[in-house]
Amino acid sequence: MSLAVYPGSFDPITNGHLDVIQRASRLFDRVVVGILVNEGKRPLFSVEERKEQIERALGSEPEAAGRVTVDRFEGLLVDYAHRRGATAIVRGLRAVSDYEYELQMALMNRRLADAGGHPLETVFLMAHESYSYLSSRLVKEVAMLGGDVRGLVPDHVAAALSARRGQSS
Ligand code: ADP
Repeated sequence: MSLAVYPGSFDPITNGHLDVIQRASRLFDRVVVGILVNEGKRPLFSVEERKEQIERALGSEPEAAGRVTVDRFEGLLVDYAHRRGATAIVRGLRAVSDYEYELQMALMNRRLADAGGHPLETVFLMAHESYSYLSSRLVKEVAMLGGDVRGLVPDHVAAALSARRGQSS
């Protein structure tokens, strides 16, 4: 059975992330969406909120149902991937600007995984062109200024963003 971990902050999940999850679920028997617990990044949504948002979004994707699960992890990604029995890490690539950071991380993870005796490949999936300009950071910025982000994130996430805006204003 092939299992891949798709790690990220997912603060919040966007339709670009969902597109990558759907593509990954066609390549691997199981995909674990791993939410990195990193309070240093000062997330807008708690890990629990993000987990619920992702699970709800996956609920309306029958293709992914049952084969994609959502989890949280702390510490080194390679250690988490090993604990889960993963043979691959999935990452999304949007533009050339993602490449340098992603390359550095993939090579570092490969080094760490090889040193630990548990080889792990990073697999890059290209975002759908309609989402290649989309990031969680931009969605948050636009939503917090009152912009309409429907169509870029699941409807329940758009609603959670406007509720958060209401609380902070
Ligand atoms: P991180 O903090 O690890 O970058 P993100 O949640 O921002 O976490 O992103 C997780 C992964 O999803 C990264 O590989 C990122 O490049 C990818 N990604 C983010 N937005 C999109 C998108 N619109 N389309 C495809 N991949 C994306």
